[in-house]
Amino acid sequence: MENAACETRHLVVDPRQPDVTLIEEAGAILRGGGLVAFPTETVYGLGANALDARAVAGIFEAKGRPADNPLIVHIDCLRTLSRYVNEVPPVVSRLASRFWPGPLTLVLQGGQAFPPAVTGGLDTVAVRVPAHPVALALIRTAGVPVAAPSANVSGRPSPTTAGHVLDDLSGKIALVLDGGPSGLGVESTVLDVSGDCPVILRPGGTIRRDLEELIGPVEVDPAINGDATTGGAPRSPGMKYTHYAPRASLILFEGHDQRRVAARVLVEAKRFAAVGRKVGIFTYGETSSFYDGMVEYSVIVAGKRSDPGTVASLLYESLRRFDRLGVDVILAEGMPFDGLGMAVMNRLRRASGGHVVTIEC
Ligand code: AMP
Ligand code: MG
Repeated sequence: MENAACETRHLVVDPRQPDVTLIEEAGAILRGGGLVAFPTETVYGLGANALDARAVAGIFEAKGRPADNPLIVHIDCLRTLSRYVNEVPPVVSRLASRFWPGPLTLVLQGGQAFPPAVTGGLDTVAVRVPAHPVALALIRTAGVPVAAPSANVSGRPSPTTAGHVLDDLSGKIALVLDGGPSGLGVESTVLDVSGDCPVILRPGGTIRRDLEELIGPVEVDPAINGDATTGGAPRSPGMKYTHYAPRASLILFEGHDQRRVAARVLVEAKRFAAVGRKVGIFTYGETSSFYDGMVEYSVIVAGKRSDPGTVASLLYESLRRFDRLGVDVILAEGMPFDGLGMAVMNRLRRASGGHVVTIEC
């Protein structure tokens, strides 16, 4: 199946009870080596048959993804995993029984069943079972494991609607299944269980506290804390690339005192506006009144800091909206690095490319 320069079909599916005929059509495209974008509970994925080297190469081409960044293999249930790895360690079974289907990706030893592009040539493979009915139906109907990164051009904010997918990949993929907005809005947590102590390589929809409740202490890879191009080599290849970034440059303002953070954002906004830059401000319900009446700025209120689930669900759409509004610079307030806030802050820090201003108390 050829994906390059094709017309992308856009099919609307019921997110709860997807039409069998549509899913069969999409499954046949995957089996034939084509690319299908589909909704998951995290963000939209760009799927290919994970056992087909040419199909997998198509993902890298369509996204412009660096070749050394491995993919997550999506399967329909834990039982299927034993077909593709020699051993399913007890910690994987425990985690999967509790968190699959759901936003948890497990990195474990093995993966030789897949073409090297899937694993980035590593001796580990990343696997998850998505919770979205459309994703599950598609994987089952295709009858193959589905390699699927987010369905965006590499480096751009991940897509949480079919419209975002089409903005980035129209003409490059065969089909997008449109099941409405993704619920969670940030990607899965990537947990490496291939060594002695489990390590979070990427924070995401499954929070650290819930993992620790089940399996005890979980480390966090220091590379998640910011610009992973500096410091030691990250254990997750994808963490070394600037990512999730809108076209405008983004500056992140962090600090415990949210009022002081907002006050500093206001000072910087005036400074940028004075030199003719169009300013966007990413804020929260608790501090949005700082910008009341300031019509010269594009202000987006991404829910409340105290409700990180809402912030996560609005994050990528907000970053893409700043682009549509044509702003030059986005001044983003930070939020506590707690629970789902860890995923939101990781994405904001990476979108900033390391441009973080810390406001001390
Ligand atoms: P995405 O591009 O959103 O699908 O993200 C997949 C993430 O999982 C990237 O950060 C990859 O680098 C990471 N990943 C995939 N496979 C592995 C692996 N075998 N070891 C470590 N990280 C991995
Ligand atoms: Mg991605």
